[in-house]
Amino acid sequence: MIQRHQCPICNHAAIPIFARPYALPELGAMIAASGLGGKLDGCDYEVRACTACELHFQTWVMSDDELEHWYSPPRDDDSFMQEIGSQKLHWFAHQTEEILVLRQVCGARTPRVLDFGCNLGKWASMALAHGCEVYGVDVNHDAARFCAGRGIQMVSLEEARSLRFDFINVDQVVEHLSAPLEITRALAGCLKPGGLIKLSTPHNPALPIKLRASGHDDNRVLEAGTLDALLPLMHVNLFTPDSLRTLASGAGLREFRQPFLTWLGAGQMWNLPRQLNRNLTVPFKRWRGRGTYLWFESGNRPKAES
Ligand SMILES: [Zn+2]
Repeated sequence: MIQRHQCPICNHAAIPIFARPYALPELGAMIAASGLGGKLDGCDYEVRACTACELHFQTWVMSDDELEHWYSPPRDDDSFMQEIGSQKLHWFAHQTEEILVLRQVCGARTPRVLDFGCNLGKWASMALAHGCEVYGVDVNHDAARFCAGRGIQMVSLEEARSLRFDFINVDQVVEHLSAPLEITRALAGCLKPGGLIKLSTPHNPALPIKLRASGHDDNRVLEAGTLDALLPLMHVNLFTPDSLRTLASGAGLREFRQPFLTWLGAGQMWNLPRQLNRNLTVPFKRWRGRGTYLWFESGNRPKAES
């Protein structure tokens, strides 16, 4: 286990805003699958607030080996296929929409893309179907083998450094990382000049307020649904839009303003009421950089081909 006292994205001081011992049964149930055994004896589920940026983060986090163990439960291909098949169609629509945007924004005819933390390769497979040259990184060995069998070129982060990408997808990943700045810097170094990286995370500005408001004897907040955005040992960093910008800026990246009309045109499944509403609101959110879904660019970006 690793203890983080300073902010892991801007290195400023951070103050604890909430702490409960992992010995509490409510917390023990949430980390039962971690396999960490006695390593958490005497440790607290402690959340800190950075005094300089808006990041909230857990003090105790896993080392690389512990994290790899947690995210590598043995799975077979049938269970992966069942999970993909059970995905709602609008989820596929969102992947298609995003990849249609990136295909129009990236100048390359066959964009080289990396899905960092690709899991079962759902996004990566979609990018493959839309004409991209697709690479993936994942700590889960069975998932990596499954993805490789579906045509995704699986590499380590070290191997990815020798490649240069037009686009890197980092979807719901940085909130899991013990060292988010170091990893984001490494990924920024894998981009072509002008290449793009997407960073998206859960967004829950109300949770730190609830944690601060919990009295010492009040453990009602210790419920997996309530704590989700700071789930013990899993979601160890809770970003706001501005702290996501702080992370990217620390990695030498600039925010990229996503094109409104391109997002509007890429919307899918307008026949579903939830999609109709989403397709009309998301382009504006993307263009304004609202929420914890942001794109960043590296260096001077060449003009896209029409
Ligand atoms: Zn900070």
